[in-house]
Amino acid sequence: MSSSNKIKAVGLVSGGLDSSVVIQVVKNMGIDVHCIFFALPFSCGNYTNAQAACDYADLPLKVVQLNEEYLDMVKNPKYGRGSAINPCIDCKIFMITKAGEYMREIGADFVFTGEVLGQRPMSQVKHALELIDRKCGVAGRLLRPLCGQLLPATIPEQEGKIDRNKLLAISGRSRKQQRELAAQFGITSFPQPAGGCLLTDKNFGNRMKDLFQHGYRDLNDIISLTWGRHYRIDNENKCILGRDDEENQQLIKYAHPEDYVVQFVDKQGPTLIFINPKKETNPAALLEVSGLVQYFSKQKNSAPQIMEAWQAMDPNKKIPIQSSPLTEQWITSRRV
Ligand code: SF4
Repeated sequence: MSSSNKIKAVGLVSGGLDSSVVIQVVKNMGIDVHCIFFALPFSCGNYTNAQAACDYADLPLKVVQLNEEYLDMVKNPKYGRGSAINPCIDCKIFMITKAGEYMREIGADFVFTGEVLGQRPMSQVKHALELIDRKCGVAGRLLRPLCGQLLPATIPEQEGKIDRNKLLAISGRSRKQQRELAAQFGITSFPQPAGGCLLTDKNFGNRMKDLFQHGYRDLNDIISLTWGRHYRIDNENKCILGRDDEENQQLIKYAHPEDYVVQFVDKQGPTLIFINPKKETNPAALLEVSGLVQYFSKQKNSAPQIMEAWQAMDPNKKIPIQSSPLTEQWITSRRV
């Protein structure tokens, strides 16, 4: 473990209240804290807030990006899911395992999180915390300082590196004590607790399952699940419509070169991205889905409208198309 005299630890930060507070608690014990953040486009973590919390505490932050390994875990969790596709226990094991690898890399003594006993029904009840501890590859070296007095003593406590009396005994869903601690540390701004993880959203979970079932090309397809309305056309093709200007722009940004973009000529209304993994030209499919652009525009009840379509790789080569009306049944049966 750490060779210098100062005890070193890796703390998981999400940018929320609990993790912003816990890094201060551990730092105040005289520990050399190194933070780690998992950049997942759909999770409850927020990079800007995590970085701000670390800057405020004057602590270094390592960022780990979404990768296929994480998605494999979401596809096949060993310990079940919550109310939607969220595999919270496996997700925690994944993140803490990675934090443990970082712990060994930098010669730290333990990993800690801002988890609180009883705060969340799936991953923060006692047996789940014990399970995560056993499976995360740092058994005995995983501390939950906000509720550590309520849990068995860890190795750093047994070794005398952590004074158990300085650990806290917070439990339950109320954030009152964390808010009081935040005030003591001078932390005045933090996001409201409660989720934010899209994996806990049933609609998002359905979109993700649809993609797992039909396949995806790369992480951009996964990231694009976070915006817009999604429609499955057939086994290969789907389309996504932005719900506002920001989503329209993000969808264009994350489109693949072979995908088609469909818009009104004057660019009013939603932008549609036709996901085109087989890289085919399919005018009939483009005509069909153009009806979605009209359906979700102010021209919903007007006569068919002239639009233009182009491949994302060639925005100067516009194809004029006339939208075709779609039935409610077509629309609802394809929605994912
Ligand atoms: S809510 Fe569950 S699945 Fe989502 S980031 Fe937190 S632990 Fe992971």
